[in-house]
Amino acid sequence: LLVQPLAQGIAAVAAVQTGLGALARIEEVLALPEETADDDVRVRGVLGHAPVEVRLDDVRFAYVDETGEAPGPPVLRGASLVAPAGRRTALVGPSGAGKSTVLALVERFYDVDGGRVLVGGHDVRDLPRAELRAATAYVEQDAPALAGTLRDNLLLGRPDATDAELLAVLDQVNLGELVAQRATGLDTQVGDDGVLLSGGQRQRLAIARALLARPALLLLDEPTASLDSRNEQALADAVAAIGPTTTVLVVAHRLSTVVDADRIVVVDDGRVVAEGTHAELVGTSPLYRDLAARQLLV
Ligand code: ATP
Repeated sequence: LLVQPLAQGIAAVAAVQTGLGALARIEEVLALPEETADDDVRVRGVLGHAPVEVRLDDVRFAYVDETGEAPGPPVLRGASLVAPAGRRTALVGPSGAGKSTVLALVERFYDVDGGRVLVGGHDVRDLPRAELRAATAYVEQDAPALAGTLRDNLLLGRPDATDAELLAVLDQVNLGELVAQRATGLDTQVGDDGVLLSGGQRQRLAIARALLARPALLLLDEPTASLDSRNEQALADAVAAIGPTTTVLVVAHRLSTVVDADRIVVVDDGRVVAEGTHAELVGTSPLYRDLAARQLLV
């Protein structure tokens, strides 16, 4: 007589706890700051598939503090940089320097407190957000993969892509082997959240998906987690192979991705402290030399 009601009671407690967890998550989402309206749009239809220059002009920015009302400590303190159209520009620097924040401001997840962010010569505040984001692909640090097949994941980038196009882009990001090794090919399941892929493979799948949309600008936040040397090289090669049809702005946590970048921007404590190629910076920037030395490149 007792066992069944007890079991039901325990199940009910578990259900309530799950519900409370979900409610907490909903509250979190509802508490996110709303984006400002797009009513100040001044230019439309200027961004397409052609690669665009990105420019930060004396940008100042702070996230809001935990109360959600006052500005927190400054994160960017007058940062200026140029990422030329169709080139690969890497942001490097110590953890917390503000590199990922630069990407968030280019994508206009937040508005600057001072200065300007220009994409294709236009202040991002003057552009419709939908247009900015359609022209931009953003691959975050722990890029998610969806439960489903490789094909399902890729078609999100371009629903009308043919199998030949999917295979070509997988080759471009060094995932061709993954398909070739399996009888199921593009129908290979990636598992819940892509668990059947390694972190490096998930990131490259996300890059492949992004490239299928032929973005004018690719914003890429490299994973901080360590990759084995094969995955590290595969990621570096995939980024290097993107070519001049897309401007690439990459937050690089490993120098293997940056040594052959067209331009390297060194960020420290919210400011740009040096810019140049790897060879130039080894000669001119003590901070870069130090980063490079720690990764055994000089
Ligand atoms: P890493 O190399 O570790 O990724 P980073 O140079 O990319 O670092 P950011 O992620 O831009 O640095 O962070 C800069 C500062 O802003 C850090 O002090 C960080 O704690 C803070 N920060 C980043 N994102 C947020 C956020 N969403 N809300 C509040 N503070 C944030």
